[in-house]
Amino acid sequence: MHRRTLMLGLIATFAALPAAATDTVILENARVFDGRRDLGIVDVVLQGERILHVGKANDAQRRDARRIDYTGKHLLPGLVSNHSHVGNTGGLEHGDRFYTRDVVVRDLQQFQRYGVTTVTSLGMNGDAFASIRAEVRNDPGLGAQLYGAGAGIGAVAGAPPTQIMGLANDPVARPATPDEARAAVRAQKVAGVDVIKLWVDDLGGRFPMMAPEIYRAAIDEAHRVDLRVAAHIHDHAQAADLVDAGVDIIAHGIRDAAISPALVKAMKDKGTWYIPTVNIDEANYLYAENPAWLQTPFLRHALPEAVATRWQDPQWQAQQLAGANIPGARKAVAMNLRNLRTLREGGVDIGFGTDSGAMPQRVIGFAEHRELELMTTAGFTSAQALAVATSEAARLQGLNDRGIVAVGKRADLLVLDADPLQDILNTRRIHAVWQAGRQVSDGPSDVTHAP
Ligand SMILES: [Zn+2]
Repeated sequence: MHRRTLMLGLIATFAALPAAATDTVILENARVFDGRRDLGIVDVVLQGERILHVGKANDAQRRDARRIDYTGKHLLPGLVSNHSHVGNTGGLEHGDRFYTRDVVVRDLQQFQRYGVTTVTSLGMNGDAFASIRAEVRNDPGLGAQLYGAGAGIGAVAGAPPTQIMGLANDPVARPATPDEARAAVRAQKVAGVDVIKLWVDDLGGRFPMMAPEIYRAAIDEAHRVDLRVAAHIHDHAQAADLVDAGVDIIAHGIRDAAISPALVKAMKDKGTWYIPTVNIDEANYLYAENPAWLQTPFLRHALPEAVATRWQDPQWQAQQLAGANIPGARKAVAMNLRNLRTLREGGVDIGFGTDSGAMPQRVIGFAEHRELELMTTAGFTSAQALAVATSEAARLQGLNDRGIVAVGKRADLLVLDADPLQDILNTRRIHAVWQAGRQVSDGPSDVTHAP
């Protein structure tokens, strides 16, 4: 709690820096990865919230500009998450009761400190979603830019399961007929959602699954009102039928079976996006298995006190690792990585997400950096993984104003102390985070500089 208060103080300090539309800032001498490729050492000139120039600054730009020397630093676009959640957790607990303006802003600040400057909250958003989205848009110093699916559309008595997800006043629409599905889509359109989220999963046969006529109606209606559809899935069969139905985004990896060449081809032909979220399953055992990680500031600073305390308890660690669900989770991770490799080789568009924020073990900020590492174990080069998490993730969302370091784009930037192309773990060495042309954080480790 003490730490959070200090953080708010730091953020307020950065927010107080001048940020008028005419202010020019030159970020000098950093090595730049522009979201697609290495540009070498170039200056990046910012004006207001945008990038004015990439390359040597001219005399006029240099005259009145504030200049920041980033010699030895590495600069890239801020990360973009296509699948996270906000306002769903509090300490060791989770549920819809946490969805308040302050908790959502707390989460958006944490994303921002970890260099994730744009976040899509893919479902289980409360009524406050639209107003918080507008507030953060007007004041980027407040946290990562928010997009989202509103409450989302789930199955009657099925996913997302109210009890497991802690949905006391269940916000999720659960249509029982195709007409109700169309009505739910239209209502969410009116509420201003950025994307429609569908949960199509029987959770290992434990719950009824959304019927095909329901999700087909929802997808058709969403396209009619110009919204794209992201679907939560787990199994190959669900993914294949959703792709056939024209879903735009598969929001989790296929984890029950190796993906068929026919489905790879269908996704490639239709331009269906795929967000693997590999970290989602390993989060069930990762921290119990690696208790030493809890001593590293990069993870430690992402955890509420209660979570860090519990995870350090050897009894909890043993219990967690002995859980009946753990062998399945390990298999799911292995299959997810295998399918990710196949899809990359097949040229399917890959998005970036983790499901962070939905539950305490899906750690906001840390999960994203871990996901980058996991992608490299599935055969991505560091540059390819970073392209997915920046330019490709922005493209998935149709946000052509970000994800690239180029003239006219938003100045949402991540500055690192070491080269992420050499070693993907270097994304964790955050030196500074810029949002809309303002430095908003020194990264999660800045709290160690506080008294
Ligand atoms: Zn999710």
